[in-house]
Amino acid sequence: MKSWASVEIPKLNNSLNLPPISLTNSKTLKKEVVAKKDVYRMYVCGITPYDATHLGHAATYLTFDLINRYLRASGSQVLYVQNITDIDDPLLERAIRDNVNWEDLATSQIDLFRDDMQNLRVIPPAHYIGAVEAIDLVSESVTALQASGSIYAIEQDLFFKNYSSPQFGSLSHLDKETMKEIFSQRGGNPTLAGKIDPLDCLVWMAKRENEPGWPSVHGVGRPGWHIECTAIALKYLSPLESDETCIDIQGGGSDLIFPHHEMCASQAQVLTGKELAATYVHAAMIGLDGEKMSKSKGNLVFVSKLINSGTDPMVIRFALMSEHYRLDRMWTDELLADAIARVAKIRQAVASSHSAPTTPLIEKIILALSNDLDTPTVLAELDKWASETLQGSGGGDSKELSSALDTLLGLAL
Ligand code: ZN
Repeated sequence: MKSWASVEIPKLNNSLNLPPISLTNSKTLKKEVVAKKDVYRMYVCGITPYDATHLGHAATYLTFDLINRYLRASGSQVLYVQNITDIDDPLLERAIRDNVNWEDLATSQIDLFRDDMQNLRVIPPAHYIGAVEAIDLVSESVTALQASGSIYAIEQDLFFKNYSSPQFGSLSHLDKETMKEIFSQRGGNPTLAGKIDPLDCLVWMAKRENEPGWPSVHGVGRPGWHIECTAIALKYLSPLESDETCIDIQGGGSDLIFPHHEMCASQAQVLTGKELAATYVHAAMIGLDGEKMSKSKGNLVFVSKLINSGTDPMVIRFALMSEHYRLDRMWTDELLADAIARVAKIRQAVASSHSAPTTPLIEKIILALSNDLDTPTVLAELDKWASETLQGSGGGDSKELSSALDTLLGLAL
């Protein structure tokens, strides 16, 4: 599928030293140094295109954009892949609710998502893969799982035994009762008659009446969500035999840890004998005015609506970076107003004829980013620099700074 337009990334001054980045690994629950590599393989789960792009989505893709930018600025290549779940139950349910064709709904939301990502200056993935275009790929993965003995049928649907991987459960750290509860809330069906284990997941769903289906060796149907990501990640990131894990970073919102990422990891382990990712990174949730932002509450804030009502996308980026990516947080009018004021002040300082020292500031920004993307510290340092500049301090080079802000933070000011 067509990705969005590439983003120009200015080169950093060669004399700057970028230490290896540390990120919190959801698997170990520890902040870990990401080992230095020439090429990183990063997979971030994409949206199901029926409500693009709310601020929770934006915060997630921004988090991985910061990681992407940092690794590239360190001189490495980042092979980045993202999927788009352009066929799944929630999409069909929304299409029925709104009385629209599901393909038209998906197309319109994917277009919106691309525009939003471009406006937010998010670096596009090298491969942006839809579930529909990955049907053959998913079908092959199901066949491979079948050969390992981890698949069984209930009527025409195929299920994967998650406990085929001895590591199942080690990413989410949840007990089985909690897993069952969350599984049923997030698209699973633990009580379905015929299941060997309640936590086994659907990998191939036979075509239902009035629903779309695609031919495969498993019959006419469509892929399950977890195997979609597993298959796309293992194909398009071309894992190296010599690497200890299939890929380097798997990411998404924290609501994907279970069941989605746990089940992807289990499938990948059975398919390859390896851990899916060296580091699992998850971005926290964004609420609105003290409440969880959710489809059911109908209180989602959309990037496109904010931009259409005149909000500068760089202000949205700034506001989302004002707290740490792992902190569940709220979107409020005050947060937006604060970001507008801070960005205006920094812009004024950047445009000033003189500038407070910039190289030490850029070094501080790099150090804070390397520390598990400590963006609140980054922005606080920027505020301090802007105040000093506007009070008449000199000796810096604002061009050098604005270029570095673009490279590292994606802020074009
Ligand atoms: Zn996924």
